[in-house]
Amino acid sequence: MPAKKARKATKKAVKRKSVKAVKYSYDFGQKTDGSSKLRELLGGKGANLAEMARIGLPVPPGFTITTDVCSYFYDNGRQYPKTLAAEVKASVAQIEKEVGKKLGADKNPLLLSVRSGARESMPGMMDTILNLGLNDKTVKALAKESGNAAFAYDCYRRFIQMYGDVVMGVQAVNENDHCPFEGILEKVRKEAGVELDNELTAKDLQELIKRYKAVIKQRTGTAFPQDAYEQLWGSVSAVFNSWQNERATLYRQKYGIPAAWGTAVNVQAMVFGNMGDTCATGVAFTRDPANGEKVFYGEYLINAQGEDVVAGIRTPNAIAELKKEMPKAHAALEAVRKKLEKHFKDMQDFEFTVEDGKLWMLQTRNGKRTGLAAVRIAVELVKEKLIDQKTALLKIPADSISSLLVAVFDPAAVAKAKTLTTGLPAGPGAASGKICFTAPQAEKVAAKGGRAILCRVETTPEDLRGMIAAEGILTSRGGVSSHAALVARQMNKVCVCGAAEVVINYGSETLKIGKKTFKNGDDISIDGTTGEIFAGAVATAPSEVDQVLNGKLKAKDSYTYQMYNQVMKWADKHRKLGVRTNADSPDQAKSAIAYGAQGIGLCRTEHMFFEGDRITFMRQMILAADEKQRRAALRKLLPFQRKDFTGLFKAMGGLPVTVRLLDPPLHEFLPHDESSKRELAKSLGVKVDVISSRVHALHESNPMLGHRGCRLGISYPEITEMQARAIFEAAASCYKLKKPIKVIPEVMIPLVGFADELKNQVAVVHRVAAEVMEKKGVKFKYLVGTMIEVPRGALTADEIAETAEFFSFGTNDLTQTGLGMSRDDAGSFLGQYKDLDILPQNPFASIDAAGVGQLVEIGVQKGRSTKGNLKLGVCGEHGGDPASIEFFHNAGLDYVSCSPPRVPVARLAAAQSALK
Ligand code: PEP
Ligand code: MG
Repeated sequence: MPAKKARKATKKAVKRKSVKAVKYSYDFGQKTDGSSKLRELLGGKGANLAEMARIGLPVPPGFTITTDVCSYFYDNGRQYPKTLAAEVKASVAQIEKEVGKKLGADKNPLLLSVRSGARESMPGMMDTILNLGLNDKTVKALAKESGNAAFAYDCYRRFIQMYGDVVMGVQAVNENDHCPFEGILEKVRKEAGVELDNELTAKDLQELIKRYKAVIKQRTGTAFPQDAYEQLWGSVSAVFNSWQNERATLYRQKYGIPAAWGTAVNVQAMVFGNMGDTCATGVAFTRDPANGEKVFYGEYLINAQGEDVVAGIRTPNAIAELKKEMPKAHAALEAVRKKLEKHFKDMQDFEFTVEDGKLWMLQTRNGKRTGLAAVRIAVELVKEKLIDQKTALLKIPADSISSLLVAVFDPAAVAKAKTLTTGLPAGPGAASGKICFTAPQAEKVAAKGGRAILCRVETTPEDLRGMIAAEGILTSRGGVSSHAALVARQMNKVCVCGAAEVVINYGSETLKIGKKTFKNGDDISIDGTTGEIFAGAVATAPSEVDQVLNGKLKAKDSYTYQMYNQVMKWADKHRKLGVRTNADSPDQAKSAIAYGAQGIGLCRTEHMFFEGDRITFMRQMILAADEKQRRAALRKLLPFQRKDFTGLFKAMGGLPVTVRLLDPPLHEFLPHDESSKRELAKSLGVKVDVISSRVHALHESNPMLGHRGCRLGISYPEITEMQARAIFEAAASCYKLKKPIKVIPEVMIPLVGFADELKNQVAVVHRVAAEVMEKKGVKFKYLVGTMIEVPRGALTADEIAETAEFFSFGTNDLTQTGLGMSRDDAGSFLGQYKDLDILPQNPFASIDAAGVGQLVEIGVQKGRSTKGNLKLGVCGEHGGDPASIEFFHNAGLDYVSCSPPRVPVARLAAAQSALK
């Protein structure tokens, strides 16, 4: 909902509610009004404080002013609803009753904290006030009652500093100015001859307070308020105001949190972790957030305030130490830990304070965790019968599953390594090896049993042999659907792409990052999960899941595999979408099957032409001067293709295989450098000039929109003919095996925008199929379909479906052509688009639902209007992206197809889409 509309709606709601005297303040403590169900109204912190109080956990009493008040505040010139003041008074009175103290009283004064709390946590973005209620009189009472004057005056000076800054705006005037309070503090420390704040005596602190008050008066013309209620309203307003501060606004933009949600304000009785050595404060997780293990995990500081733990001024102790230092508090925390998990049914991240040996809970929320931890926690919560398998599936971010599959850097080795820079994490995993700048260099290193990292400005099909040989690929240019990225993912290679700070100079064979220069053969390490690049060879290890799938490790010996297998089993039970893979070789196919692929959704036949001499025959075919020359080259390619398809069909054992006919943007295949041109000229027995002039003649200004896809097959039907022949002959040979494999080939025509383009190509395919069946004496079923990857194809899908037996949405090209954005060049501006919120994410990685998605929906609807049972899939990179998978599920597709290592992610994402 647009912000204006949302505000109007809230206004209406508030008006409507105020007639019925809406409740604006919700108490928690012995009397608790709210619960975790009221998250929208009370914010995450407020709702969970209420819930903890409800289940009997020790929560300092307090109250939450609702998010409705925030909306009212902004809709009414920063005023409050009329009934709020009375409600707040009653809520304060309730706290006073529960703790036996009084706000602003000379004896036993109640001190309060005032904190923000939005529906989604926005850590550190809004303002907080602590120790509210202190004034010149109450501070004396606190000194007396705590028996610790320095503590009392320290609390007071902290309060004046926070209040002066946040409420009264006494801050640095510009970037070059110092915070006035910090300046005074430093001066007083110097005068007292101490280094640390906690070495100041009560007297020093009194002097400090005097100077703090003076600077406030001098800067604002107003005295620091002594009245506790004035302090309270000032603080509440400051927190509401901070909802619209620059930090919070930016954070909301980044994480898509609507401004209309507003924040709640939590007012709570203060408890002190800094009153002496019987006090402490800390943060803890009910399980290890890094690996998910069920161990108590956290840290604390004795005699400290919460902010000290986070600020890192003192190094906190591990929570296990607390058992020795404060056994009672530790036992109480252990009990809380159990109760929290049992109640919230998820790993919790909580804050606590121990005041004079007594434990108080200040916050709890679902803890953030790594991918591995997400899987382990979900699986174990089911085992512990805290959640069911559907809930578990929805709890695991689908991408997390890939963190169980990738080769990893040895954590101890990473700790010692130096991060040089970071690029786009394009192919997950960890790889280290020798820097190689060309494919032959990488092949040479690999041939000697070494490990190569192929470093290119960007990759082209010419680099493919090097990519196959290399352990990992690093490029300085190109985005997540660049050639390097998609090939790397499909080959399960580690890849970091578009690392802009990497300067590669092919001439001098150097790679520079900042001031550091590397040469050919130097060691480098890349982390394709994080995008990090390290100097030297950082040690790696293959994932346990892969070791089990490859038979190198027994399933019973790998807990990681067992978790993976469990999640995959659950996912398969619930998903509706099929999951296929994009694979061009038997090895890729086998690896995808091991990951659970149910077929091949895309075999890019042009990728089959890179091994050995094939690239030369391919170039001969592309550069042929006439049909005769072209047919000669095609004759050389046919046996290779047939063999490849036979291998693929065998590897898939009768599962569906979609073979896409040639779709090369020609520029990717032309020889560019002189030596490749010479080599090609030699192989063709022509002069280099002939090659140069053919290359020149074939040059296209926009190769991605040029002579590619079905346009090629229409110009040169003999190419389509050769490929169809190779496919059908391979299929026929499978039917003739001793143990026949019943292959049903699916032949796919690329880049179709006109029904007649498809008709043209389908006629060739049908003719060849009949010829092969006749000649080989076998009959088998096959399908001919098309890719929908240009807008016209989607818009006229009803006409295309008259001929097509299936559609596969090529969302890489559909995004490129639908947005008019080159998939190879968009990296140069997409970063800025994201920063400016023009595009929330890279549309080549996650489907642009409103635009390109609409084209998919139109294609689905029109295609099925002609053929009700038309089989529909997607084979662009989006087929492995969880958010896009949900979109495809909702659009009614039958399957998604993605690179082999994304198959498990897609299985989980598909199940989640079905369960949502
Ligand atoms: C596509 O365009 O989405 C597709 C799968 O084809 P390619 O990436 O090979 O152009
Ligand atoms: Mg395409």
